[in-house]
Amino acid sequence: MTSSNVPSTTPVTPPVTPKDASAVVLLRDRDDPKVFWVKRSQKMKFMAGYYAFPGGQRDPEDSLVPVANCTDSEEAHMIACAAREIFEETGVLIARGGESLTSERRSLLRRELVEDRLGFNALLELTGLIVDARDFIAAPRWVTPHYMPRRYDTRFYAVWLPEGQETEIIPGELELGEWLRPAEALQRWCDGGCLIATPILHMLQTLSLGIDGFVERLDSVSQAERDRHERIEMRLGFFLCPLRTPTIPPATHTNCYVIGGEEMVVIDPGSAYPEEQEKLDTLIESLQGEGRRIREVIITHLHTDHVGGVRHLVERFSLPVAAHRLTAEAIASSITVDRLIEDGDLILLGGEPYWRLRAIWSPGHARGHLSFYEERTGTLISGDLVVGFGTVVIAPPEGNLNDYLASLRKLLKLPRLTALLPGHGPILEDARGKIEEYITHRLEREEQIIGLLAERPRSIPELVGIIYADLPEAIHPFAAASVEAHLEKLEGEERVVRVDGGYALRGSI
Ligand SMILES: [Zn+2]
Repeated sequence: MTSSNVPSTTPVTPPVTPKDASAVVLLRDRDDPKVFWVKRSQKMKFMAGYYAFPGGQRDPEDSLVPVANCTDSEEAHMIACAAREIFEETGVLIARGGESLTSERRSLLRRELVEDRLGFNALLELTGLIVDARDFIAAPRWVTPHYMPRRYDTRFYAVWLPEGQETEIIPGELELGEWLRPAEALQRWCDGGCLIATPILHMLQTLSLGIDGFVERLDSVSQAERDRHERIEMRLGFFLCPLRTPTIPPATHTNCYVIGGEEMVVIDPGSAYPEEQEKLDTLIESLQGEGRRIREVIITHLHTDHVGGVRHLVERFSLPVAAHRLTAEAIASSITVDRLIEDGDLILLGGEPYWRLRAIWSPGHARGHLSFYEERTGTLISGDLVVGFGTVVIAPPEGNLNDYLASLRKLLKLPRLTALLPGHGPILEDARGKIEEYITHRLEREEQIIGLLAERPRSIPELVGIIYADLPEAIHPFAAASVEAHLEKLEGEERVVRVDGGYALRGSI
């Protein structure tokens, strides 16, 4: 029972260059301000199912749009992008002068724009309207963190809803749009009713303190600086600290979570790199500074990229360690586990409100793998059973495909899944969809292997060469482990037999 040398997930590509984007914090009712937020549809490749502010990526044609009262051409492009996006997504047209548009005419023009029959610049020329920078209050700019598979350098603009205009969402990229008080939006987030990205949370928190001078307040907080994402609170009391971990190059990150209120636990402090450990130390110290108490370190499973920072954390903060018995046994030579967690154990974390982490023994990726289900909010911490991007490597003997599928099905039985907090990659809103996708993917792969073996007996390298033809050679050892896991399952089910130099379908030879 040793820790496998196989990294736990497929390596990801190096950080991508962020794309320019604009987003609009649309406001109304100055006496009792409300903000407009939208829910991104499940079809979106970036932050599917998240609540966000309307906006999108810069279009080359945005540079054609003249913007009054703006001398900086770069800023003008981004304001034009914001004006176009807010019109496309909500039907609100932020422009001055020209034709006085009826709402019918405005929605007709919007349709022309959305359906690509009329460019935004042409639309403005046609109506004599002018985008004016004075209508776009520049809020801070945020860059998606480097470990995300898609990244945007987003400029946020606060904009007041013009009199006589209303918002209207055309279902598609967005599922819905809603006006609400910033404090109500925050409450919804606190209750675990929605996922929002850090900049949106930060802006809602700032807006909820009052509208006057909120842009200045946004600017004054260190988080509002570019590329600074030190404190990521995905849900109330669910802090995400992505740490670079020693897996195979190119570098990947492991998501470490610090969860709770007055009492907290740290799950998977995986990095052995001192500079990464320092990031986590800083987060923990800042949480302690708020009067919170860190109770213990919890390990989801034995892999190096999940346990690499445990000893450091234990020594630095004098914390006990908890894990499943099988994990404890496997890592005994390097880490002492003080408390064993069994399937179904409840970890109750005190505070306001409270956090109920239910342990779920979920072998398959690793024998002693634990997932955690927070019962109040329906949040699933999935470790390496399900990850935010790429696939999970099932490498026998530690990995077992039958167990893996059984564990995935076990998760599907959970009463309510509102978010998936994986060991790697982005936090996902559609937890159930992702788990189902994983099951389908494995079963399709199995069918593919059966199909290939039906033609003739084949070796593992041969199967890998066919199935993973488009993957770089460097990935093939991990692919081979996955193929082996499938063959092991099929052999156990007596559907496949070992033959000279490989495997054959039972009955076919
Ligand atoms: Zn792993």
